[in-house]
Amino acid sequence: MNNTQFKAWRVEEVNEGYEGSEQTLAISDLPAGDVLIRVSHSSLNYKDAMSASGNKGVSRSFPHTPGIDAAGEVVESATGDPAIGTQVLVTGYDLGMNTDGGFGQYIRVPSDWCIPMPAGWSAETSMIYGTAGLTAGLCVQKLLAMGAQPEQGRVAVSGASGAVGSVAVELLANLGFEVVAISGKTDQAEHLKALGAADVVGRDALDHDKKPVVKPAFANAVDTVGGSPLAELLKQIQPGGSVSCCGLAAGPKLDTTVLPFILRGINLLGVDSVEIPRNEKEAVWKKLAGDWKCPKTEASVKNIGRADLDGALKAFLKGESAGKIVLDHA
Ligand code: NDP
Repeated sequence: MNNTQFKAWRVEEVNEGYEGSEQTLAISDLPAGDVLIRVSHSSLNYKDAMSASGNKGVSRSFPHTPGIDAAGEVVESATGDPAIGTQVLVTGYDLGMNTDGGFGQYIRVPSDWCIPMPAGWSAETSMIYGTAGLTAGLCVQKLLAMGAQPEQGRVAVSGASGAVGSVAVELLANLGFEVVAISGKTDQAEHLKALGAADVVGRDALDHDKKPVVKPAFANAVDTVGGSPLAELLKQIQPGGSVSCCGLAAGPKLDTTVLPFILRGINLLGVDSVEIPRNEKEAVWKKLAGDWKCPKTEASVKNIGRADLDGALKAFLKGESAGKIVLDHA
């Protein structure tokens, strides 16, 4: 198949900036790997926007095909596991970072990155969740492992309209939690309520307060934005509560004190969806395809084609993206 040609949305360095466009590649252009996958769907994530904008912390060299998520059919398999013809999904590891990713119609990856499609799911369904859904699931799983229960009180989700945040809102609501969605987008309030949020508040709920701790507003939280809003959220968690922290949309720096930890015994739980072992990913995928299914997220997904990628990715960097977006290669 080495001469087979395919389409990919590729990012190049142009005049000291970065531009993406559809290009034609050959299978032989792909990196080495055991498994060749014909990708039917990918999913859009904040990290794809970072890669497409030339962020060297994500993608070191260009031209490059972003896409940290991919789903499709195995067409070549050096080890036979997964077998040719199997539907698989791949998220994280180096996919879309320095290994050509799901914004191309083919990827070649190590076999241990491939996860068999959970029962009942199509490639498209798996990409409605994608890395963002997996991350939301991991955030919720960590809260539950720390003993979070609906009776303890309200759970905050920051960056609630985003890809991770919106799945976290629906999943927590489905599990019986009273969810407070923290969002900068007033036009998303109704949608967040439809996903199950009991209340939607503006980002000013996490404006800077000089005090090292303030009156507790939440029992637990999922934070997708990091930065100063996370520092403020930590001050508002009730004694013994936990915050799952996965993102940096508001910045990577966390300027806080130890006081919420030593006065209230709260827990800051780091969440990584990228490098964790495959069996840990598989366990959460199975839950998302089973008891943790998010039907409203599935119903509200937006499908786009490669020609729409540029605008959709730029919206992530401006904090304007909302909900789950799937790339359909058809
Ligand atoms: P999105 O852009 O879809 O969502 C982020 C949301 O954060 C925005 O929609 C917006 O929501 C809010 N936001 C954006 N900018 C700011 C700001 N300056 N201050 C406060 N809030 C802001 O991204 P994703 O959901 O895909 O990813 C969220 C974060 O999680 C990213 O930082 C991403 O890199 C990280 N991530 C980490 C993973 C891991 O494995 N740890 C895996 C996946 C993602 P609103 O307008 O509603 O406030």
